[in-house]
Amino acid sequence: MIIVLKAGASDEDIQKVVDKLKEFNYGAHISRGENRVVIGAIGEKRMEEKILIMEQISSLPFVEQVIPILSSYKLVTREFNPSGTKIRVSPDVEIGNDQIVIMAGPCAVESKEQLFEIAEFIKDVGAKVLRGGAFKPRTSPYSFQGLGIEGLKLLYKAKQKYGLPVITEVMDPRDLEIVAEYADIIQIGARNMQNFTLLKEVGKLRKPVLLKRGISATLEEFLFAAEYIMVGGNSEVILCERGIRTFSDYSRNTLDLTIVPALKYKTHLPIFVDPSHGTGNFRYVPSMAKAAIAAGADGLIIEVHPHPEKALSDGPQSLTFSDFRRLMNELKSIANAIGRRL
Ligand code: PEP
Ligand code: MN
Repeated sequence: MIIVLKAGASDEDIQKVVDKLKEFNYGAHISRGENRVVIGAIGEKRMEEKILIMEQISSLPFVEQVIPILSSYKLVTREFNPSGTKIRVSPDVEIGNDQIVIMAGPCAVESKEQLFEIAEFIKDVGAKVLRGGAFKPRTSPYSFQGLGIEGLKLLYKAKQKYGLPVITEVMDPRDLEIVAEYADIIQIGARNMQNFTLLKEVGKLRKPVLLKRGISATLEEFLFAAEYIMVGGNSEVILCERGIRTFSDYSRNTLDLTIVPALKYKTHLPIFVDPSHGTGNFRYVPSMAKAAIAAGADGLIIEVHPHPEKALSDGPQSLTFSDFRRLMNELKSIANAIGRRL
């Protein structure tokens, strides 16, 4: 780490930093500029100690800034697996290779008929994973909260009938065991990205996890959340950009596609994009889905409903069957253009 002292720091102040570093067995390299002193801390420490010493040194009143040289996360960094992580979801679905994986389905599982109709259709047009919420994180307590365990069972039946692996969200650590029993991929929703208890629990599983970016999470906070899961021993983490809250008022969220190349640079984990929650409007979903693939995403998760006007949740952002079919065709051309396939 590099420690920048405030202008006018005295020799005594410099000595205090050197002593503090010595306390943690760090050496110090002092560099005196025209009006500032910069101290390089020399030594290798365990992450826990590094974080503690950085905090303690930042607390000294004459210290302006403490800059880490290496990021404080480690398992998620690209250097940890330079060729990129591949996650096997089922015998014929692997995430993170040149195949782009499309997950599609309703926001919420509403009934057997609804789910089966959607599963049959999305499979027919080339989607590889069926999505559907059973435990729904709704903004209002008066909105449809999902079918719960009954929804999980329906997803499992759809999986058996159509041979599609399924993804569904878990909101509460108490439901994790049963969700993991039925789902092939566990979804952690945006609202729970920093639910550290839940992250630690999914870290104990040996099952793929799709981690959505929090509504106002920075890239660093997003990666730390993934690190929480990986520290527990579960290395099968898929990151998912789903839009963030900004001042923009024409869409539900602002889909931050720049994070796709930024994450590709920083981490070996596969990156997905959710253009449905990212825009909140079915009219904008196809454009952003295509842009996400062009930007390098490894896959998409998209809400599809045969009758959006009757949907119990997120109808306004759900694609109809004909819109989804058209989008799948267009995505094929984009995938081919960048040397990937759908
Ligand atoms: C969802 O995918 O159903 C969902 C609620 O997404 P998010 O957590 O991104 O809002
Ligand atoms: Mn939804």
